[in-house]
Amino acid sequence: MQENPPRILVIEDDKPILNFLKSSLLNKGYKVVAVESGEEGLSQAAQNVPDIVITDLGLPDMDGLEVVSRLREWTDLPIIVLSAREKEKDKVEALDKGADDYLTKPFGLNELLARLRVSLRHATRMKGNSQEKTEYEVGDLKIDLAARRIFKGDEEIHLTAIEYKLLSTMVRHMGKVLTQRYLLNEVWGPECVEHPQYLRVYMASLRRKLEDDTSRPKYIITEQGIGYRFADEVDEE
Ligand code: CA
Repeated sequence: MQENPPRILVIEDDKPILNFLKSSLLNKGYKVVAVESGEEGLSQAAQNVPDIVITDLGLPDMDGLEVVSRLREWTDLPIIVLSAREKEKDKVEALDKGADDYLTKPFGLNELLARLRVSLRHATRMKGNSQEKTEYEVGDLKIDLAARRIFKGDEEIHLTAIEYKLLSTMVRHMGKVLTQRYLLNEVWGPECVEHPQYLRVYMASLRRKLEDDTSRPKYIITEQGIGYRFADEVDEE
């Protein structure tokens, strides 16, 4: 791997999962600090700031949501939360508190590594230049936020004002899962955060304009019960 491998702080009280994470990440060349409680995690993070934090939400000494909030008081470093499938509400709350992504247990190594790469890339992008990136390319889409123009192959795509706002919000956070609440607040404003039907309607119209097959979207991915993710990589067919 690189000379300076990213350092990952893993907070997880479930021993088998902790060991699995530790050995797989070390094996991939990352540096890993593994701890089993929220307090230890917070103090490790403060002493020796990692490049990314992976935290379980069900910790013995404090709620993982609190770990997220307390980290967000002083740092923007990427946070990925781990949670059981039935705890959908917790995941949404963690994302709304500032977590970057989530993994549902049980998860596969490839999924974890993909999420790590996205979060690290995103963090480097934010850190590397205070000037925000304006041109994005993914699959056959080209999105130029400065010029407000979108192309699919050679064809320019025309969007309504709301569609554009929704798309640009997702594209600025490409690869990252965004909650329904976050999107509603950004695009429609705080008085509309309880109206997920707006999202369904506008996502459907965006998909009709951007996707090859709206029944198998590859750009606008639904995260069931959580929100949406704009893919930052698509499989070439
Ligand atoms: Ca746990």
